[in-house]
Amino acid sequence: MSQQETHGFQTEVKQLLHLMIHSLYSNKEIFLRELVSNAADAADKLRYEALTNNDLYEGDGELRVRISADKEKGTVTIEDNGIGMTRDGVIEHLGTIAKSGTADFFKNLSGDESKDSQLIGQFGVGFYSAFIVADRVTVRTRAAGHSADEAVLWESAGEGDFTVETISKQTRGTEITLHLREDEKEFADDYRLRSIITKYSDHISVPVEMFEEGTPAVEATEDTEAVPATEGSWKPMNKATALWTRNKSDVSDEEYQEFYKHISHDFADPLLWSHNRVEGKQEYTSLLYIPAKAPWDLWNRDRKHGLKLFVQRVFVMDDAEQFMPSYLRFVQGLIDSNDLPLNVSREILQDNKVTTALRTAVTKRVLGMLEKLAKNDAEKYQSFWTEFGQVLKEGPAEDFANKERVAGLLRFASTHTGEATANVSLADYVERMKEGQSKIYYIVADSHEAAANSPHLEVLRKKDIEVLLMSERIDEWLINHLTEFDGKKLHSVTRGDLELGELEDADEKEAQEKLQTESEGLVKRVKDSLGDKVSEVKVTTRLTDTPACVVAGEGEMSTQMIKLMQAAGQ
Ligand code: ADP
Ligand code: MG
Repeated sequence: MSQQETHGFQTEVKQLLHLMIHSLYSNKEIFLRELVSNAADAADKLRYEALTNNDLYEGDGELRVRISADKEKGTVTIEDNGIGMTRDGVIEHLGTIAKSGTADFFKNLSGDESKDSQLIGQFGVGFYSAFIVADRVTVRTRAAGHSADEAVLWESAGEGDFTVETISKQTRGTEITLHLREDEKEFADDYRLRSIITKYSDHISVPVEMFEEGTPAVEATEDTEAVPATEGSWKPMNKATALWTRNKSDVSDEEYQEFYKHISHDFADPLLWSHNRVEGKQEYTSLLYIPAKAPWDLWNRDRKHGLKLFVQRVFVMDDAEQFMPSYLRFVQGLIDSNDLPLNVSREILQDNKVTTALRTAVTKRVLGMLEKLAKNDAEKYQSFWTEFGQVLKEGPAEDFANKERVAGLLRFASTHTGEATANVSLADYVERMKEGQSKIYYIVADSHEAAANSPHLEVLRKKDIEVLLMSERIDEWLINHLTEFDGKKLHSVTRGDLELGELEDADEKEAQEKLQTESEGLVKRVKDSLGDKVSEVKVTTRLTDTPACVVAGEGEMSTQMIKLMQAAGQ
């Protein structure tokens, strides 16, 4: 039966293990959060599978996680009766990292331990965190629906390889035993474990239990009656109700934060969250988080994102991206719907009225959270903007219905502040518009310096008109889709006509006309020598220091867009 095999870890796992052990020493106890989190996920998965195949419960539907320690042996064991793993599953899940882009992530590590430990936190250490405190980890697991002799024993010292062996295991689920390192034996202590578990597992929706010893019998005396011995039993250490089903007022900030870490695999606390129960035409609960830091793979196209979906409190799927437009892909959280069928699949979600309604509602909710943050805490909003502003800029192109609201959340650098920090909103700009100014002026350039020093700004500077300075790659794309804000057109200062309108006084018009007639000869000579390279040569009053500049004609591609197209090989 045994058939022991040795497998090498995937290169990235080896790197992760090495880095983790050397950089997470100040945060050791998180191994328990990760393993309890996995056990709870395993319970969720079994509950979902059992909806269509009740036999998977094998008569034991009371899902729970149990934690115990053996002081003498120096071990900690985390045991669950969830979905378990098959031999192939074990080799895949406990030998590789499935996330796409993992190799790139490891290339980006600096070797600086404190920086890397932050990054590893964002990456998510998961199961492998067991090796922070253990020098040997043993996993015994049997997948639901498989017979007792199809169980697997996995073992590793967390170095280059692991072994797997087919064994027999009566109970379904997974049992993970950590053989603690010499200097980590303190974890093999009930009291210590209990205090960590209460901290990390109150939000977990299955009971997380520890064994409580019984009391010995007390014999009767003259004054007191005999007390019989009590048997020990497993006692839940947590509330074990799904956090989002509780009333907001009963959930502490710490619990919300811990729950965030459980579902997002992020180490850091979230920036903000919003928990709402909605009744009426649609019935659902949403719990939405904005992370404080962008995940390492925010720009990876294959990155999984989206909300966890529950239907009537049963976990259905991770990464349900249908509920969140792509420009809000940094949002983490869950949605628990009473209106979707329990057997809902990704295909059904794709084209579904309930999905559409939920997506609309959840999108509005997130925009509302951000608007409120921007209004009440500009500093925090600025830190959000630094992390996720570039993603939000995809909004106006993607979400026509909320274009104006998204536009209101954008931040730009501007000639008003003279700083490179993007902290000016379109509303700020509009408020500062000059009397008679009807347009919002902007420039897009390759860098902030190029934008700020462009000769195109000269005339506007002279008239003290503010110009938004854009220099991110996405800005050209943004501006193609965002043509107006608050009824005012956005106008590039590099366009042929600045259309200053009433800001142009009569004297200037006259001067311009005069200049035009005077310069006819010069203009013709320039035009003749440039030939087909330009479509027109014009005299202008918009430059004050620079002798000449190139502008795009009305209705033509901007110079920036041309560069983008060239870069894309077109
Ligand atoms: P993540 O939880 O982010 O998927 P982990 O490294 O924590 O990453 O776990 C890797 C995978 O191992 C899980 O996705 C799951 O498939 C499997 N796994 C880990 N622990 C358990 C468990 N207790 N029961 C069943 N499967 C598990
Ligand atoms: Mg995990």
